Amino acid sequence: MTGRFEGKTVLITGAGSGIGQETSLAFAEAGAVVIGIDRSGEGLSATSVRLASTGARFVPLIADVGDETSVPAAFEQAAAVTGRIDCAFNNAGITQSSTLAADIAHEEWERVMRINVTGVWLCMRAEIGLMLRQGGGSIVNTASFLSLHSMAMQTAYVASKHAVLGLTRNAAIEYAANEIRINAVAPGGIPTGMMAQSLADVDEAGRDAARKAIGDMHPMKRLGTPREIAQAVLFLSSGDAAFVTGACLSVDGGWAAL
Ligand code: NAD
Repeated sequence: MTGRFEGKTVLITGAGSGIGQETSLAFAEAGAVVIGIDRSGEGLSATSVRLASTGARFVPLIADVGDETSVPAAFEQAAAVTGRIDCAFNNAGITQSSTLAADIAHEEWERVMRINVTGVWLCMRAEIGLMLRQGGGSIVNTASFLSLHSMAMQTAYVASKHAVLGLTRNAAIEYAANEIRINAVAPGGIPTGMMAQSLADVDEAGRDAARKAIGDMHPMKRLGTPREIAQAVLFLSSGDAAFVTGACLSVDGGWAAL
């Protein structure tokens, strides 16, 4: 895998934790210049430390992907790093509290949609503009097994992840003839900051049991790893996927097949 992305510039949102951090590391190991966007400076510092041993260039940018002003400003800085963005991974996202559909606070609904849907669209808008000017590129969005399934008490999150799939597929057909490929990766349960947050109300003893119970929901009877998602993102971003656009690659231990 080493060198597969030598000479390429990759932009990753949500690069400060979990799947985004691991994918940053995988791209760095493969020789890419990595630009990491996150709203958490602390998270980006941790990513920077993890990437240091690869020798790859890592450029951290603090921005809120759901903010209409800060996204174009961050992309202006990103575009100045090497003059291009060959691959983008729109991955930043948040979860919701466990709440029935009719009881979700309007403010929480707006927050989930702003970050998970508008955030992906704002980044795609900037990326597509750049990629049209440079003559092509690849975009991967983080969908979810909940882009294809439902889950009680998760209506806002499920709706947002269904929307990410719609955004991916529709934009993919619009720009397919412009050498811009747009795909989604749909992870199953992955132990990251997001999962820890979902289990924050469960006591220490119950947390392991809860993680095991989530793992058992997958046909493979386990959770996935951030690296397993990163590998799928690298495949979709690479020349090996040159004829793949508008696809949703499930990396979920078989969940999508249920
Ligand atoms: P995580 O919480 O570990 O990482 C998410 C990162 O996104 C954090 O660093 C956070 O600071 C950043 N972020 C959040 N809102 C942001 C904003 N407005 N602007 C910029 N950065 C922001 O979680 P993760 O599991 O690695 O999540 C990554 C993606 O994977 C999300 O889109 C999530 O919905 C998706 N996903 C996760 C799972 C899972 O089980 N963990 C399953 C399916 C899909």
